[in-house]
Amino acid sequence: MNSTANRIAAIEVKYYQVPLAEILSDAKHGDHTHFELILCKITCEDGTEGVGYTYTGGKGGRAISSLLEDEYKPLLLGKNADQIEEIWDEMEWHLHYVGRGGLVSFAMSAVDIALWDIRCKRENLPLWKVAGGANNTTACYAGGIDLNFSQDKLLSNIQSYLDKGFNAVKIKVGKENYLEDVERVAAVRKLIGPDTVFMVDANYSLSVEQAIVFGKAIEQYDITWFEEPTIPDDYLGFAEIADNINIPLAMGENLHTLHEFGYAIAQSKLSYLQPDASNIGGITGFLRVAKMAKENNLPLCSHGMHELHVSLLASQSHAGYLEVHSFPIDQYTKYPLQLDQNGRAIAPDVVGTGVVFDDALLDQYLIK
Ligand SMILES: [Mg+2]
Repeated sequence: MNSTANRIAAIEVKYYQVPLAEILSDAKHGDHTHFELILCKITCEDGTEGVGYTYTGGKGGRAISSLLEDEYKPLLLGKNADQIEEIWDEMEWHLHYVGRGGLVSFAMSAVDIALWDIRCKRENLPLWKVAGGANNTTACYAGGIDLNFSQDKLLSNIQSYLDKGFNAVKIKVGKENYLEDVERVAAVRKLIGPDTVFMVDANYSLSVEQAIVFGKAIEQYDITWFEEPTIPDDYLGFAEIADNINIPLAMGENLHTLHEFGYAIAQSKLSYLQPDASNIGGITGFLRVAKMAKENNLPLCSHGMHELHVSLLASQSHAGYLEVHSFPIDQYTKYPLQLDQNGRAIAPDVVGTGVVFDDALLDQYLIK
């Protein structure tokens, strides 16, 4: 390759609002009617293309799109697409004063994933091999956004996961009266039997005291983890909860810098880490958290965008569970997620990140 072939020649940003088939609710974000998808296509001088993306639960996407178009595009044009780690640092410091996490981490993620797509294409390998190569499958679970479902509907939804081959499931908790949550947890455990892995997620809706009371009330149902019981910034509150209940704790989707992960690992007595490559600085950020997890003997899990994370988790020897999220981004790609007969998710064996959007399906939802 000559010296200019890998220079970034063009960056195209697209912003979509994709409707959900039905309204999905959790305890802190309320009703979700759609998700936002922000795509970033990077083209090198020699025509090689990489596609990256990020997503939101329905808010903030226009601002992310503007950060990409107005701030990062001028910064990145002409740079060498090979220099992923250097570009990552440059993006971080460029907007550190106004960013340092938040929306900036989402925008960085879209760029970084596009650069990794290019890296995989240059190496002519699938992402699971380039990112670590430990395996091409990973354990996974179906994560429902189901707090608004009646108990009957909750159970039929969980049954649909089992019918699809999942052997691990998660439900939302955080009802106004926690006894209703306890009842739902009991009903789900009864339905799935003793051998199915079962987690709960409060979306940081509880106080430390409420989380301890609720945690004690559901200990008997063999819960693999209690996710985001309280606000993610209360690192010591997590530790207090962990000290007072016999259920392991998990978080990560709301930790948007490596420093936040560092504080959480040091202070929160977590048992599982759940980074999301769409908001921790893409694949580079995700793999840095993977390293921190390994150094601290914590299983690496994920939140959201399962069509990408399947390759990242499979690639790591300390993988825990891939979340198969209720936002079906993969349904708008050429390689929707597949499970094997053992309920494990299979990383796509195609060159690149394995996430190839289908314009024929997505175009109708393009906003700008
Ligand atoms: Mg969650």
